[in-house]
Amino acid sequence: MPTNKEKLEKLLGVSDPQEKDSLIEEIFDDIGSDVKGFFNEVKDLFTGEMPSIKKVEKQTRYTWKNHTENQIVQPLQYLTPKSYEDLVAIVQTAEANNCKVRAVGSGHSFSDVVQTNDFLINTDELNNPIPLDKSLLKGNVDTSFLVHVQNGMKIRQLNDYLDEHSLALPNMGGYDAQSIVGAASTSTHGSGITLGPISSFYKSIILIGDGGITYRIEPANGITNPAKYKAKYPGNKLIQDDEWFNTVAVSMGCTGIIYSVILEVMPAYWLKEVRTLSNWEIVKADLIDGKVLTDNRHYEVLVNPYKVKGKHQCLVTKRNIVKKPDTIIGSKGSRNFLTELLGLIPGMSDIFDFIFDTFPELSPAILNEAMKGLVDDAYIDKSYKVLNLGTANNISAYSAEIAFPVKDHIYIKAVERMFEVANKMKTLGNLYHTSPISLRFVKASEAYLSMQNGGNTCMIEIPVVNGTYGGFDLLQHYENAMYEFSGRPHWGQVNYLTGSNDLIKKMYPDYDKWLKVYKELNKNETFNNQFTDRCGFSVINFKNQ
Ligand SMILES: Cc1cc2nc3c(=O)[nH]c(=O)nc-3n(C[C@H](O)[C@H](O)[C@H](O)COP(=O)(O)OP(=O)(O)OC[C@H]3O[C@@H](n4cnc5c(N)ncnc54)[C@H](O)[C@@H]3O)c2cc1C
Repeated sequence: MPTNKEKLEKLLGVSDPQEKDSLIEEIFDDIGSDVKGFFNEVKDLFTGEMPSIKKVEKQTRYTWKNHTENQIVQPLQYLTPKSYEDLVAIVQTAEANNCKVRAVGSGHSFSDVVQTNDFLINTDELNNPIPLDKSLLKGNVDTSFLVHVQNGMKIRQLNDYLDEHSLALPNMGGYDAQSIVGAASTSTHGSGITLGPISSFYKSIILIGDGGITYRIEPANGITNPAKYKAKYPGNKLIQDDEWFNTVAVSMGCTGIIYSVILEVMPAYWLKEVRTLSNWEIVKADLIDGKVLTDNRHYEVLVNPYKVKGKHQCLVTKRNIVKKPDTIIGSKGSRNFLTELLGLIPGMSDIFDFIFDTFPELSPAILNEAMKGLVDDAYIDKSYKVLNLGTANNISAYSAEIAFPVKDHIYIKAVERMFEVANKMKTLGNLYHTSPISLRFVKASEAYLSMQNGGNTCMIEIPVVNGTYGGFDLLQHYENAMYEFSGRPHWGQVNYLTGSNDLIKKMYPDYDKWLKVYKELNKNETFNNQFTDRCGFSVINFKNQ
């Protein structure tokens, strides 16, 4: 004789209306007058769980905040899936309840690109490598440098895993706390004109789209053998199509929930980093000449937007591959006066903030001092340790970052306009930067909505220490001034993009192709959120009654 709980569980899985009615009748007959006993017996079925995701760990009344706490949401459910099946169930349940779904990587975006107030997925538990299934691949695929990982794996965890296997990422940003998929989804990048953003390491993307359908998405000449894939996964869809791949690779969570990705990495390598002081006149001449960009694997510049003693001081960083040394030379911890200090000592950011706030006119000189503290003759270590900025990332800060074409030195004109904007804000509004601006160089990306799409790109970042007076306004002044230099704001950093007047369509030549695939994968609009509304990707239906 089944218990009431078993009958109720059965009821949750029944779709035939007649069968449902007779089960309900049976359950109510059995309850009789012992209503309390019945609820005690079945109460764990009624703790707020949605029927088909009752296995997935979830919280209601949960307040989610991003890393900098400038994005806050209280979603209906905050879910922590532990498997692919959990993710499928979440998407299907969301749809059945007419709810939206979004995944959080590490919540390190400053923009509203991540969250929804319906079903928000915490991907922290989906952080494992997956054995590469070579039986699904075409016979000629070299698998030596292919790795398959779940979406929530942090770059830090991936680096450790790769290191254990004598492998490494070809490049990364200045930080490693992001998840690999969250970082790629906003076209996160490092610096190096021959190296694309993180999404350019993708070979295959396993995504759960509308209806909980599983897609394996690859470029037209993808690594998977269609016949073998179909035989093993008849219910899934293998799509080998450049338009689909170039849409989903950088899609800001708008095309579905990515379960896992296959990446192409490279053999482990060592880097030597050298940091020298310079000034804008010299750096500009080097950049126009162009050799610094091709002679160095990684080249980046910090620039003081203010002149001090008639010059915009710069700090130039060059990193190149070297042979494995006998011992590690230098370290991140011993060479960096202000930024290290700020990063290491709790509360130091507040003191720094206080100084900037009370004596804003000292900012230009403080920025110069901070850069002097970063000068370094040599630091040699494993690639991923050198590429990580280290404790400087602990400073509580946020930033905007804008992409400019390297072609025709447009980015150099943009830098010089930034100097004018900085001066205007200082003179008219006593509004000051609290960090130098940075220039990084990235190889063109084929992903349609990558900021680096269409040509080699200079990414100019404008960081501000948290609490900076007028910090967000300062960033908006820059964004507005940079549109005339073809400036495309980083999706994951502070940005004020809107869909009005086809702004985004004008920025991205393949926008229509992106939109077509987005609509195909998001037929029920399950993956829309405030960000897709703001950018005009979603269509909001308004009815005049
Ligand atoms: C300290 C710091 C340093 C940074 N350094 C750099 C840098 O050097 N270079 C640079 O370019 N940027 C940098 N950024 C920006 C940051 O890399 C991006 O905003 C990145 O997207 C954040 O990654 P995340 O894992 O936290 O993803 P989140 O911010 O959580 O999410 C980003 C996007 O990915 C989507 N997403 C996440 N997981 C999935 C999934 N499984 N399926 C589908 N969609 C998903 C989200 O919905 C969202 O749209 C930095 C940010 C911080 C705070």
